[in-house]
Amino acid sequence: MKKIAVLSSGGDAPGMNAGIRATVRASLSRGLSAYGVHRGYEGLIDNNMRLLDSRDVSNILQHGGTILHSARSDRFLVPEGRAAAAASLAKRGIDGLVVFGGDGSFRGAHDLSLEHGVQVVGVPATIDNDIWGSDFTIGYDTAVNTALSALDKVRDTAAAHDRLFIVEVMGRHAGFIALEVAIGGGAEAVFIPETPSDIAGVCDKVRERIARGRTSNILVVAEGDEEGNAYTIAKKIEESSGLKSRVTVLGHVQRGGSPTTSDRVLATKLGWAAVDALIEGCAPCMVGVENGIISHHPFPDTWLNRKQLDPLLLEIIQEM
Ligand code: ADP
Repeated sequence: MKKIAVLSSGGDAPGMNAGIRATVRASLSRGLSAYGVHRGYEGLIDNNMRLLDSRDVSNILQHGGTILHSARSDRFLVPEGRAAAAASLAKRGIDGLVVFGGDGSFRGAHDLSLEHGVQVVGVPATIDNDIWGSDFTIGYDTAVNTALSALDKVRDTAAAHDRLFIVEVMGRHAGFIALEVAIGGGAEAVFIPETPSDIAGVCDKVRERIARGRTSNILVVAEGDEEGNAYTIAKKIEESSGLKSRVTVLGHVQRGGSPTTSDRVLATKLGWAAVDALIEGCAPCMVGVENGIISHHPFPDTWLNRKQLDPLLLEIIQEM
């Protein structure tokens, strides 16, 4: 192994820069050269990459986003696109590829390795935390903390005006952010895709609280809840109980900002471990951290298995 390339793909996540920096520095420290691919698989197809030195990744680990830029690539979804991507790597004599991304990016990485024998290591980077095979994904901790700080602010105004607020957080298929924000922010209930939502039950609970004089109430909704988004749920609550609410959709603020210490450390560990995995011949695989230890899993395992929410947190939010 002499040359590697690194790219970020799909939804960006705070900490990707720290991971890219670690991958580049690990490569250089092991005598490999590292290419940075611009705009994910799109850049790979177009051979849009450049050699990076240590200084190119200086002063980036504290920034959100990704210096390599990310993209979604429809061209990569078809075999011709992936053949062009493999040809770009072959032309430069690149032997290994590190992909920072989520589930979709890993499916693409898997196809690229199956069809063209490219040695790819995936690094889980998505704010949703919904990748099996790693206890945490890069960006999740920052997103939860951003959402929690917003929820605390909403709590102030909810208390001042005796209002019911419904706060929507990201999570199209998973409730990790919603559950932790609800617990950390003392929300009255949470709506997540993994569990059936009981609108009538939540309305009863809010009514009981109001009867006991607890006039500020906050509900947290994951955008992908089966009952709908926060606006739909607000409407259903009003229809079912007459309770009026204010909706706050946090949206993309959750993706941005300076990564937390945990995300910087996780990204540095995984970005470094990805290079080790390439050198040690573990590719194709995803590197993760489980119980503090670096793990390697075949790509399909990461989407064929479903990462579970913490059952104790689910019980606590129900009971408290
Ligand atoms: P994420 O990696 O954050 O889940 P996406 O789902 O948008 O983001 O995937 C990023 C890119 O990965 C897509 O634009 C596409 O190029 C590639 N990709 C996604 N799904 C597949 C698939 N099933 N097969 C091949 N490539 C895929």
